[in-house]
Amino acid sequence: MLLDFPNHPVQLKDCKQTSLGCTLYCDEVSAHGGQYMFILWTSDHSPFATNSMASRWPICVIPADRYLIVDGKNITLECATVAITESFNKLALHGVKIKDMPSCGGKTVARLRFFVMGFRGDWKALKQVFHMDRNYNENEICWLCGATKGNDGDLARAFSDLSSSAGFWATYLTNPPWSTAPGYTKLIGFHLLVISPDLLHCLNLGVFKDIIASTLKVILGDQTVFQGGLLEERMKRATESIRQYARANKLPLRLHKFTKAKLTWKTRTYPEFKGSGYDASVCMRWLEAILAPHSDTYGDICTMIWAFNHSTKLLCDVPRWFLTGDEKSTVETVGLLGLRLFLKLASGARTNGDFLWRVKPKVHLVHHIFANRRPSRINYRVYSTWMDEDFLKHIGRTLKLVSSQSAQKRILQRWLMTIPGNIRKCFRQLRSKQPGV
Ligand SMILES: [Zn+2]
Repeated sequence: MLLDFPNHPVQLKDCKQTSLGCTLYCDEVSAHGGQYMFILWTSDHSPFATNSMASRWPICVIPADRYLIVDGKNITLECATVAITESFNKLALHGVKIKDMPSCGGKTVARLRFFVMGFRGDWKALKQVFHMDRNYNENEICWLCGATKGNDGDLARAFSDLSSSAGFWATYLTNPPWSTAPGYTKLIGFHLLVISPDLLHCLNLGVFKDIIASTLKVILGDQTVFQGGLLEERMKRATESIRQYARANKLPLRLHKFTKAKLTWKTRTYPEFKGSGYDASVCMRWLEAILAPHSDTYGDICTMIWAFNHSTKLLCDVPRWFLTGDEKSTVETVGLLGLRLFLKLASGARTNGDFLWRVKPKVHLVHHIFANRRPSRINYRVYSTWMDEDFLKHIGRTLKLVSSQSAQKRILQRWLMTIPGNIRKCFRQLRSKQPGV
């Protein structure tokens, strides 16, 4: 990873062997009629990374109704990030002493240092924490480059340009997306690249939702794949089909049935699938399977869905942090093919006056994931927020059980009580796989 940060203090201080990378995550949880911002940290080397309750460590919980916002800047979050930055800088500079066993003399044998090497979260939370002036609500959308929505006909840096010579690449990492530097920029070794787009929010909860709903609106309207007089009958057949597919492939689907509300199917409105990130991935795989026999009719849709599924699967299946040159090249070629076909379908729909294939700014973040320009060829899967979301789901349930008057304190106390049990359980599982640990 240090290939991406050649001047990082870890290189200069020569403490690579005794340094740990950490990632910070932020998102809001709904409870007691409001929102609570959670900021968590995770060790990049956690042996329990797939157990959210044993690998995610909350730093603070802030009720959103207490936010102090001045001129659009969230002062409350800014103060929190300044305090978190000071703590992590102490951990980077002074580290934590690791002592030998008392029976062996108890001497300090190493000094473990911590460096924040990644930030992940949904775009809204990152925008707040880093008070980004360039964001999805503005013409300039991206924190990594100067890509625009192309407002007022100025397409010089339009994010819809997927070529390697697109205008926005000339602005890649040249200017920060904020006018005043946020607290986290004072972290030792901070670099804009550590703020990472995340597969779950950009793909599963982003582009996939538009693809699923638009595809279903097209095929259910055409009566090619599912026959039946009324739309409700065809939706019922589609529901039976996906449930059967999920059972056959042992995929635990949460979706009960397709409805117009589930697909936001309204007149003069872009459809969007309302389901979980996991259901979105199952829907994409199911659509690829059921459309395969109809590739003559839906050639572009079939290829687009295959391309998204293939490139995403490759990222998720590679167990390593970094892709090989061939893997990166395949993800980029196939992933960009999917994006190109999505934009082609969107352009066709716009010409015909159809409300289909909505192109949102998240498409551009997906472009950064597929056309990864980090020298290390890092696999963006490591910045996925599945486990962080899982942690928030668990802690969110507990949050609803404690009094709203003392929710922040009680939720942290309850979480502390669960730590020993969770860690013991993880060690038991680890020992059963690796005797001697
Ligand atoms: Zn960009």
